This record gives sequence, structure tokens and C-alpha cells, in this order.
Amino acid sequence: MTYRLVIEPTQKQQEWVNLTEQQLHYLRRVLRLKNGAHFIVMDGQGNVWNAILHENSAQLLDIITTSTELSIKLTLMVALPKGNGFEDIVRSCTELGVNTFIPVISERTLLNPSPQKVERWRKIAIEAAEQSEREIIPQIFEPINFPTALTKIKEIETNKYICVTRREEVNHLFIHLQKPLLNSLVVATGPEGGWTNLEVQTAIKAGFEPVSLGRRILRAVTAPVYIASLVSAVGETHSMS
Ligand code: SAM
Repeated sequence: MTYRLVIEPTQKQQEWVNLTEQQLHYLRRVLRLKNGAHFIVMDGQGNVWNAILHENSAQLLDIITTSTELSIKLTLMVALPKGNGFEDIVRSCTELGVNTFIPVISERTLLNPSPQKVERWRKIAIEAAEQSEREIIPQIFEPINFPTALTKIKEIETNKYICVTRREEVNHLFIHLQKPLLNSLVVATGPEGGWTNLEVQTAIKAGFEPVSLGRRILRAVTAPVYIASLVSAVGETHSMS
């Protein structure tokens, strides 16, 4: 498999990329590439090129147009689970095509993440995007309180769903995914202890529709992976717009 290198857009000057010391070390010492070797460069914003290695730089050849991205932009608003659970969510859901992660602190969230955690999540997203041959690196927001996240997203025109357990009357998310949708989707999942009634009511007032993920109760780490799998399966087998 051809190696994929993620660059900062500022490293690119027309058809040249100024490689950092760390990138040169990886290309030359770890991968043992020599001048003239071919690899793939991506800027994490949807642009992907075939490239060739020169002394301290890479020359961009042709642009690669095959798309590995989902036709619908999926944002997961995830109440942070305990321990390192969010790392697993970022890794698996990046592979499945998620566009944006909004980690939220809800009433029953037990984790208080450090700034280093956010850096680690972003590094995991880069690795998973490279591995799964994505063209974009998913965006990961700084963690925010759930009510603040709801206020920020209220005005955005997108389909919004909140996953709620033990509610016989609500439809499965899959039913909604088969209707015509806007080209973006936000889905919120709760922590181990679930959402409070007040949180669900506030989300509904902010335009979220309650949905089910089936009859079994999924772990806080499993629910986002299930959602991303459903959206990618539906998106890649039907037109979702
Ligand atoms: N005791 C909690 C409850 O009953 O809500 C369990 C929470 S569950 C471990 C974590 C989150 O995953 C839930 O808040 C919900 O957002 C989502 N979830 C898990 N299973 C679900 C299901 N079958 N339907 C809808 N949402 C589900």
C-alpha cells in the first residue's frame, strides 16, 4: 500500500511541500524512501495528491479524485464515556467516515478530560484517517457542556437526533435515514448513566428528534460506532439526499 502523509495546508507552496524534520525522519529513516520515491500527500481538507520525494520537500504530481468520503456529513455529539472510551470511538468512527466529533460533558459524565486528551484524540483521528484512506481528517471540537453544545447547534440547518433508551414510541434511527435528508446529520449519544429527562427535553426544544438504536442497550462506546456503521451503510447503498 502506498504511504499516505498528512500535511498542514500551510506546508504547501504551489506544487511543492516543505517537509518537516519529523516527516523527513519518518519517510527516510522509518519507511526508508529514497529521492524519487512515490507516496500520497493529503491536506486533511479533502485534497489528495500523488507525490514524489526530493531532498527536503515533496513535489505534488496529479490530484487524486476518487472519493472515499460519505456523501452525508455525520457529526457525532458524544457525552464522554469513562476512561479511554472516547479514544476507541474516535478511532473506529473515523474509519467509518464520521466528519466531526463534538465531545460533550453531560449531567452524568464522569470524565473531566485534560487538554492533552484532546491532542491525543486528534492524533488518533489522523492515524485512523491515514489508515482508512480518508481524504479529510475529522474535526474534533474541544469538550463543551451539553447545554452549550445544544445552543450552538440550534441555528444550524441539519437533521438532529438524540439517542434515547427504553422509549417504545420513538422510531429507530434507521427509519429516519431512509427518508430524504439534508446533507448533514448530527446524532447525540449519552454517557454510561444515560441522559437525564431534562437533557432530553432541552435537546428536543433545540430541534433534536429522539431516536432508538434498537431493543438492546448499547454501551456508551458501542452506540456511536453503531450509528456511524448505519449511516455509512445507508449512505453507500442509497442516495441520501
Ligand atoms: N442506563 C442508561 C439508559 O438507560 O439510558 C444506559 C445508557 S447507554 C450505556 C449510553 C447511551 O447510548 C444512551 O444514553 C443512548 O444515547 C445510547 N444508547 C444505547 N443503547 C441505545 C438504544 N438501544 N437506543 C437508543 N439509544 C441507545
